[in-house]
Amino acid sequence: MASADLSADLTAAQLTARQLTGIDSPPLQEVEPGRLLQPVVAEAYLAMQQAAAAEGIALRIASGWRDFARQQAIVQAKLSGQRPVLDSAGQLVVMHELPLAEQIHAVLLYSALPGASRHHWGTDLDVWDQAAVAADYVLQLTPAEYAPDGPFSRLSQWLSQHAGRFGFFRPYRSFRGGVAAEPWHLSYQPLAGQYLQQLSLPVLNDAILHSNLAARETICTMLPELYQRYICNIDGEEHV
Ligand SMILES: [Zn+2]
Repeated sequence: MASADLSADLTAAQLTARQLTGIDSPPLQEVEPGRLLQPVVAEAYLAMQQAAAAEGIALRIASGWRDFARQQAIVQAKLSGQRPVLDSAGQLVVMHELPLAEQIHAVLLYSALPGASRHHWGTDLDVWDQAAVAADYVLQLTPAEYAPDGPFSRLSQWLSQHAGRFGFFRPYRSFRGGVAAEPWHLSYQPLAGQYLQQLSLPVLNDAILHSNLAARETICTMLPELYQRYICNIDGEEHV
């Protein structure tokens, strides 16, 4: 009985290929102004926010659901030099001096491929603590802000201890040779775990090849490597 119910829930939670890749949106709910999550994720987030508030932490969402077009605009602007690209030491990368394949790796350190952002799923969000900073604080989302001497150190510690209880984990908690560490990025494991399985190489290849991303053909040639290094290569759910 219990297992039959569980499989029914899992089937209902599946997304279409277009939703997985951010071309269509999953069912969404506005949690904070302009910040959208799937309803079941919103519910878990709000419960976590309430628990954090009891500890003096004002949990807020910097970014929730994003679509393919938004992610494409970010990646395109970086590849074309309209938006700065930094290396892991925080130094500006001189993009036009690099072959396209290296430019793509430089961008993917901090920005997901359109079609492969976990933010497409409505399960992932970037969080900060409004109570830890002044009202005019400009949020940067840098590792230093979440480090032991940064303003969001307490938030980071609190998340390590409690986020797992609400179904969340941090897929980019550490640098694993793919995406840079993003201690602010939370993922709702019960759904996101399935979506990562569903986001196969052919599904992603199809979404990118049918887009108007300028570097799409080179990206698709590199896709098996990019898929392993930046998409599958995450910290497991035990890494909260
Ligand atoms: Zn994020």
